[in-house]
Amino acid sequence: MQTRTFEKLKWPNGAQCAVMLSFDVDGDTIWKNGAKAYPDGERYIRANSVGNYGPKRAVENILAMLDDMKLPGTFFIPAKVMEDHPQLCRKIMERGHDIGHHGYHHERYVDLSPEEQRAIIQKSQNIFKNTIGREAIGYRTPSGDWSRETAGILVDLGFSYSSSMRGDDRPYRTVIDGVETDFIEISPKWDMDDFVQFGYNMFPPEPSGQDRIAGIEQVYDNYRREFDGYYAEGLCFVILCHPQIIGSPGRLAMLRRLLCYIREHNVWFASGSQIADWWRQNY
Ligand SMILES: [Zn+2]
Repeated sequence: MQTRTFEKLKWPNGAQCAVMLSFDVDGDTIWKNGAKAYPDGERYIRANSVGNYGPKRAVENILAMLDDMKLPGTFFIPAKVMEDHPQLCRKIMERGHDIGHHGYHHERYVDLSPEEQRAIIQKSQNIFKNTIGREAIGYRTPSGDWSRETAGILVDLGFSYSSSMRGDDRPYRTVIDGVETDFIEISPKWDMDDFVQFGYNMFPPEPSGQDRIAGIEQVYDNYRREFDGYYAEGLCFVILCHPQIIGSPGRLAMLRRLLCYIREHNVWFASGSQIADWWRQNY
């Protein structure tokens, strides 16, 4: 008995399923923002070092893996991290991967006025232009949510797509003021977010109730079973990883094993901008 209803989607070259590999290079921004909730929070520098593991060590290893496997990645980078690590960002760009907007300092857009959001995006676009020679056309909302006005601002500023929401396993056209637009959403899911599986810090505590570092084999099993489901239904499978989390040697080996498994299937590995273009032209 069929338990889910679905429309069979078309992907390029007769592929059965689309796969987007995305990496949020948050650096230490989330830890610095989180520490502001504590008196003298700037004293907590160990948490920052958790974040700095991303640009310091993990991104290079992820790039080497993607090169070796000839797979496209999509990297969402706060502009402050780009300011701090310009050569690394240029390297990501030169390897042919997408780089998208992820705030200046990983701000919570839901807390900002439309004017503040616009100013952060424009400031970040200038940093992108000066560092990697081009502005971002992809957006992933930092820290969880955006405000009612955000999508309209992104369209105004020339963005092509977002990968921020959680509400579909296919791309879709974002509805703004009741009108379906060309602005495409490619939703990642919590299930495929490595932070939710492995993210941990003792203080400030993450997760706030503590007790989480999932077993690597269990996470591999979750990811693989989700992929099998997406593949069976021909959907758009989005992996959401953070270099500071997925980049440890054992976890990265797990991701490589997962990608080897996925690669044995008839899938279309694509960047966010490629998926958005395909969707806009075909749906
Ligand atoms: Zn982030």
